[in-house]
Amino acid sequence: MLKIEDVVKLYEFVDIKLNYFKQEHCCKAFFEGRTVRVFMKNIDSEKDLELTLIHELIHARNWYLLDVEDDEDEVEDEAVVTYNNNHEIVKFIKQLYCPRLK
Ligand SMILES: [Zn+2]
Repeated sequence: MLKIEDVVKLYEFVDIKLNYFKQEHCCKAFFEGRTVRVFMKNIDSEKDLELTLIHELIHARNWYLLDVEDDEDEVEDEAVVTYNNNHEIVKFIKQLYCPRLK
């Protein structure tokens, strides 16, 4: 499960950019280099956005903090577990990275 301490550490390495304009056909979001890009036109709801942010930060944690290969299905399962069991983290991520969404 993604932890608040991980999110704090990742703030040093990763930026989150919400893209409201460009339609990206690949996906809702991706993590590349130091940036998580979220394509808001592909996001269906607030819950979808929250799960997507958690999902991408798990990729970032695996890359920057754990240095492990990640598996798409495992990342998605962990995102759902985190969403269901640690909902505080969602508020924390939004406050830290996305003040405009508060
Ligand atoms: Zn993914």
